[in-house]
Amino acid sequence: MKKYIKTVFLGAAFLLAALLSGCSTEESHAGETAPFVVEAGTEETPASGVKDKSGTAAESTDSGNAPAPTAGKAEGEETTARTAGMEDGAGVAAAMEDTEAGAAEPDASGSFEVHFIDVGQADAALVFCDGHAMLIDGGNAADSSLIYTYLKDRSVDYLDCIVCTHAHEDHVGGLAGALNYATAGCALCPVTSYDSRAFNSFVTYLGKQGVEITVPAAGGSFSLGSASVQILGPIRLDAPDPNNTSIVLRVVYGNTSFLFTGDAEREEEQDILAAGYELESTVLKVGHHGSETSTTYPFLREIMPQYAVISVGADNSYGHPTEETLSRLRDAGAQVYRTDLQGDIVCTSDGETVSFAVERNADADTLGSAGRAPAEAEPGTESGEDPAGGESGAGQQDDSAQAGSGTDYVLNTNTHKFHIPSCSSVKQMKESNKLFYNGTREEVIGMGYDPCKRCNP
Ligand SMILES: [Zn+2]
Ligand SMILES: [Zn+2]
Repeated sequence: MKKYIKTVFLGAAFLLAALLSGCSTEESHAGETAPFVVEAGTEETPASGVKDKSGTAAESTDSGNAPAPTAGKAEGEETTARTAGMEDGAGVAAAMEDTEAGAAEPDASGSFEVHFIDVGQADAALVFCDGHAMLIDGGNAADSSLIYTYLKDRSVDYLDCIVCTHAHEDHVGGLAGALNYATAGCALCPVTSYDSRAFNSFVTYLGKQGVEITVPAAGGSFSLGSASVQILGPIRLDAPDPNNTSIVLRVVYGNTSFLFTGDAEREEEQDILAAGYELESTVLKVGHHGSETSTTYPFLREIMPQYAVISVGADNSYGHPTEETLSRLRDAGAQVYRTDLQGDIVCTSDGETVSFAVERNADADTLGSAGRAPAEAEPGTESGEDPAGGESGAGQQDDSAQAGSGTDYVLNTNTHKFHIPSCSSVKQMKESNKLFYNGTREEVIGMGYDPCKRCNP
């Protein structure tokens, strides 16, 4: 590792303490729920036989192996654990030393997976290591129910860490859904407040769990099971474009590594390069949905990814991913996976090599089809994430419209009543109490919700 700043800053210590002391006894229950069906033999994962710098063909993933960390924790326990950890300064310092020496050796019985969840034109990645879990972004507000269900299906009721890479709705929006199912040990975000309903909803749900946002400092690190999570960005918390405040994480598991860049664009990439961190990574979560303003050559040259994953919506209005970015990835020789073409993407590491399983279209030509260029592309507006054109409260008026078109039920997490999206009570409901749910009436009732007497869902 090149230049790891050895500052035990308060946030990291806090975070590390919570992680170290709160999570060491969890077990993982393998195979409770198959994340999705990839039938062996019928849909070969592109990873097999394809490039792999070690020369070994990666095994196709048995997607039934999703680890399902157990154990939700009582808030009281968490608080105690943190306090205890904080007092143990020596332990924290020792752990920081360990991280400097590189990630711990993966256990023989260990497991590591990254699930790039298909949330359309948005980001969401769930990282599992040895029964621990971390969620990096949660898609749009309309994806709340999808994220809720994704966690529930895998019994992930405790997240060691929930990360909002930056305040744009397509990253923070669905985190409320995650927090409605799982408790979080800590929350990382580059800001503690932001003027949008989606962000306020995130803060409200964190507040219900007594969790405060930690603004991480680049140069810190913490552990997730036997994996090490290095914080590489943001370098500048005051960057004018929220995309360039994206939290950038490099997760190292054995000899494999994963770089999560949020929506970082050229400017933040340059700052991270200038800071001199080790960037080489086996897998790159491509910045900003494949926008041309991210994944610049100098950054890519340091990362040298074998695999790249683009989280992007089909036919999005931004023209993502752009031909420019695909062409750079082609030049870098990276095998590319895309959520718009392949749905959910699961990457498994054994500490030496990684393998991929996709929900559909394993053989899709992922480098061949760029997004359609926006009809009237205005230079400089690429970073706008919100289809309605703004991140301020006013831009998000279409929440209920989204609910009307794509959601089966709207749940009131306060009253535990559920409604059809057009029910008049939905309009009066507090935004922070709304949970958009796609699924059956039975599922909703199974979650402990009662049908509204007005709309009789
Ligand atoms: Zn963004
Ligand atoms: Zn985004």
